[in-house]
Amino acid sequence: EDLCQVTQLYSLHHFYHSPPQELLQMITGHMNGYVQEAKPGVRERAVDCPGEEEGADHQSAPNLVKSPQCPAHTERVKHYQEELRRRREEEAASRGGKHEIDPNASLRLKKLSQNQKVGIDNPTFENKEKISRESFIESLRWAERCLSDPQSLQDTEQLLQFLSSEEFHSAYSIYSVVSQQLSHVSPTSPITTQAQDLCLEVKDQHTQALMQAHDHVAEQELPEGQVLTQYLGESVKLVRLEKTRDTPLGATVRNDVDSVVVSRVVKGGVAERSGLLSEGDEILEINGIPIRGKHVNEVHDMLQQMQGTLTFLLIPSSQIKAAPHRHTVMHVKAYFDYDPSDDPFVPCRELGLSFQKGDILHVISQDDPNWWQAYRDGDEDNQPLAGLVPGTKEAKMALIQHAHCDSTGKHWYGKKSKKQKKKSLTSTNKNDGDEILTYEEMSLYHQPANRKRPIALIGPTNSGHDELRRRLLSIEPEKYAVAVPHTTRNPRIHERNGREYHFVNRTAFEADLAMGKFVESGEYEKNLYGTSTDSVRHVVNSGKICLLCLHSRSLKVLRTSNLKPYVIYIAPPSQERLRTLLAAEGKTPKPEELKEVLDKAREMEQSFGHLFDASLVNMDQEQSFHELRRLIDRLDTEPQWVPTSWLC
Ligand code: 5GP
Repeated sequence: EDLCQVTQLYSLHHFYHSPPQELLQMITGHMNGYVQEAKPGVRERAVDCPGEEEGADHQSAPNLVKSPQCPAHTERVKHYQEELRRRREEEAASRGGKHEIDPNASLRLKKLSQNQKVGIDNPTFENKEKISRESFIESLRWAERCLSDPQSLQDTEQLLQFLSSEEFHSAYSIYSVVSQQLSHVSPTSPITTQAQDLCLEVKDQHTQALMQAHDHVAEQELPEGQVLTQYLGESVKLVRLEKTRDTPLGATVRNDVDSVVVSRVVKGGVAERSGLLSEGDEILEINGIPIRGKHVNEVHDMLQQMQGTLTFLLIPSSQIKAAPHRHTVMHVKAYFDYDPSDDPFVPCRELGLSFQKGDILHVISQDDPNWWQAYRDGDEDNQPLAGLVPGTKEAKMALIQHAHCDSTGKHWYGKKSKKQKKKSLTSTNKNDGDEILTYEEMSLYHQPANRKRPIALIGPTNSGHDELRRRLLSIEPEKYAVAVPHTTRNPRIHERNGREYHFVNRTAFEADLAMGKFVESGEYEKNLYGTSTDSVRHVVNSGKICLLCLHSRSLKVLRTSNLKPYVIYIAPPSQERLRTLLAAEGKTPKPEELKEVLDKAREMEQSFGHLFDASLVNMDQEQSFHELRRLIDRLDTEPQWVPTSWLC
């Protein structure tokens, strides 16, 4: 509103005195020269207007101040006054006598307001240093004294009143302040063409710095349930864990002088899953109870009693955690029995995992190469905690040590006679002599529909495996077949080469035997007989299931033949039951013969049990037959564990 008043003032000024210099000329013209003498400085300052000529010498003879004696000038003033009066009357008449101020009345004002560069605030009033309200009022007063006609006097008086009013004074002050402030305001348009790029760069750098700050803070953040603090000058961590009956803690501790240190964190326990306890952390307190100085057994007993939230005060391990040895699970078949309760070397007996030869173990951690963490196949769901099993090196060392030492008879690797121990635990490998078998890495294998795995039935003579094979062949001849054997005997009249036998001479047979081409062989009545791997492969390629009845010593050759055999052990029943079964077949074995079958069976189990994929006790022919078919059919529906080396 105030600024509007200023505008009105400006318009008023033009309304009365357009163009302004003419008004000033008129005013000064009536001053008769004495003004120049009396108020030279004030006047010059007040009349600093755009019409002034460049280079004019203000000090000696200002252009605007004309001699009052000039007749032409007097004429002009008279003419101007006439013209002004006429215009005012006309306009007053057109507005019905009402006096209103129209900002557009002045062409010059209009032009100024349209000119962006100059603007309405630019010319006469802009420079308050050069023109002030007081000096303008003073000039008007002088002019008033020079005017004679009543109308002009009245106008001048009106103008003076307006300029002297408080409203105008306020408006003018605001205007001055605002224009002064505006001159200091930063430009609204960019001062450089790269402003946007710079702006983006600054923004990027700012964002980057923000992210770095975030990362820095995040690095210092600790997992939930863990707090770092100071305790007796040491940096310690406070760890909170929930222990329940179903979810064991799963950590071991050891004494290190008088301190109690976390020795091992077992997979599947609360400690491992929370990630809050680490190997090497020293336990200072548990639920406020001091631990330093306590024996690990005490700590164990104490922890066993505790349930719910456990608060550990720990000195974090200073060791840099080594990268885990192996992240993936390794599946192995154990080639020895293990009972941790009889093992003096197991670091934590309660965590030891017992297993038997032939068991599949899922090794989930080899971080400690001496003591792996594993689950027995099938136990994963029932057993929350992994168990400790000896690593390859540990197992080998212990096997060697125990194989050579005279013992009390109680050893973790089995409770066998000395003779049996040596035989069962040390296996000779054709390449490296005394190779101790500990574990073999296994993988799952699902047989393809067109390449069925050969079925090797193993068992001592008279265990009934031959009869089982015959039955399978007679019931489903389109599904099962036998490999055509080789022989050095002459063919009989009805026999054809390649159907009953491959008839070969002794030299050729022995050459093939030397080259390892036979899965098994034997001599009968001065003739050689044997089953070649090629014959077995021929059946496999035909899509049928090759049924083999083998002696256990043949298994090693068969396993290295890439035929991927499935080995089923047919165990004889009790001596009495065996006698009954053989009697049904018309056989009448002596008691020593029956005993020999059973002894042979036991030896087979001990020596080759780890190579059996399945076993059944032949209590009843019918039942055994069905069980055998079930095992064979299962190969079509379920993948089986085979040595990983078979699949390479
Ligand atoms: P034959 O000459 O009467 O056909 O068989 C004589 C003996 O040789 C039989 O006891 C039979 O079991 C055995 N025999 C037949 N084929 C093989 C074979 O491939 N390997 C072995 N080791 N013996 C065989």
